[in-house]
Amino acid sequence: MIPVATLIAPTTIAPHEQYSLQDLWMAVLGKFAQQITRSQFITWFRDTAALGKEDGKLVVGLPLPMALTWHMEHYRDQTLQAVQELDPGITQIVYTVDNGLKDNRERSPDILELFPENRKRKIAGRSEVRLAEGIVSKILNPSYTLENFVVGSGNRLAHAACQAVAREPGGKYNPLFLYGGVGLGKTHLLQATGNTILRQIPRATVVYTTSEDFTNQVVEAIGQKKMEQFRRRYRLVDVLIIDDVQFLANRERTQEEFFHTFNALYEDHKQVIISADRPPAELDLEDRLTSRFERGMIADVSAPDYETRLAILIEKVRNYEMFLDMTVLQFIAEHATRNVRELEGILMQAVALYELEQRMPTVRAIAEIMHKLNKDAQEPQTPGFEEPTKRRATFQEVLEAVSRYYSVSVNDMLGESRVREILLPRQIAMTIGKRKLGMSYVRIGEVFGNRDHTTVMNAVKKIEVALQADPQMLREVRALEQELDL
Ligand code: ADP
Ligand code: MG
Repeated sequence: MIPVATLIAPTTIAPHEQYSLQDLWMAVLGKFAQQITRSQFITWFRDTAALGKEDGKLVVGLPLPMALTWHMEHYRDQTLQAVQELDPGITQIVYTVDNGLKDNRERSPDILELFPENRKRKIAGRSEVRLAEGIVSKILNPSYTLENFVVGSGNRLAHAACQAVAREPGGKYNPLFLYGGVGLGKTHLLQATGNTILRQIPRATVVYTTSEDFTNQVVEAIGQKKMEQFRRRYRLVDVLIIDDVQFLANRERTQEEFFHTFNALYEDHKQVIISADRPPAELDLEDRLTSRFERGMIADVSAPDYETRLAILIEKVRNYEMFLDMTVLQFIAEHATRNVRELEGILMQAVALYELEQRMPTVRAIAEIMHKLNKDAQEPQTPGFEEPTKRRATFQEVLEAVSRYYSVSVNDMLGESRVREILLPRQIAMTIGKRKLGMSYVRIGEVFGNRDHTTVMNAVKKIEVALQADPQMLREVRALEQELDL
């Protein structure tokens, strides 16, 4: 444990004094803004400032006690590097908590304004592409691929059929009809098939549309009296993919147009791929249309089993380039059983927790998330599953946390010194040991160099009284206890 506030020999005068504290701090902010995620940057650097410079030490002010440990452990070296680039005379960074920095724009820079979010430029909000001859397709999501679709018993046939279609569009499996409940991967498979075909035949005209969009186009064409043009256009398509055709129910005119388009493409050996939430016979569509669908390949997509759910989670986590404990993934896979979208939703929340709060999600945290999302109404599928019991912090950990927090060494705390800077942390550590770990006064006394138990008792009493009068101290102790998960 390196004592934070160790005094170091003052370095010879700084030749770089022209840099103001603000300059130095802006250099640090600029560096971190690029090196860590935006959520981390905002979490840890909002309302921070360089407060002073003395004897080669730069004093950095943080608005909250909880930021202290984090900065010391994660950012101190890089902070020092950044300031040394401007002022090599600085050889140490020391931190102090200063509540007055919070939202005080005269004392700490407004990082939200100074470092605005570097949004990736959107393609002008487009969700559609115009292909040749005014043919419109929704943009295929490139992250949907056949390779990253996890295959299990519930979707094996559908996946294989998509692969076959991608290999030979307009071949044996035409039309291809996929059906299944919501959130089970139909759209993923449809778009992945489109993506694969385009990769192999970049000049192919692949149109992906939903039945809603198709309907709108028909309605527009009718309104503009451009039905002929509409039909001609669609005849130029090589692959037509229509998602969620169940929504064509009760739209006779659109169904009729679709019927003609379908026939024309089919006769030309162009590939048609369709999805719906139920099999053709159960769709509320014209018989002549559903009997066309039944001519081709029909495959259902059903809910994934436990192994597949776990495999999907592992695949997605790999995608996010993050690490999650296997027990956490297993817990999610066991409890999120409805569909893959739910599975992903919970995973996203875990990712957010990880990014925003800098906490590795625990099974307990996930259980809380699921509780909030009200997803825990269902019984877990594996009844024997139990949450691992929480490990309680040890007194050694308490000492170390207090030491970091108040920038005094553990040895000093255990020693004899009665200067206030050391006495207070010592007494706080004793209090946490008593109140939160349930240690006896005698035992605490032993740890602190065989002090008499009445000394410990008086110290704890003193802190307990002080906590009632001093909200700042209360906050600090709370923060410490929170950090220790007590
Ligand atoms: P549907 O269209 O059937 O409602 P989606 O295709 O939109 O479902 O799937 C919902 C989400 O779940 C998507 O993000 C998709 O990538 C993902 N997903 C579904 N099944 C799988 C799978 N087997 N492997 C990987 N991701 C999947
Ligand atoms: Mg869908």
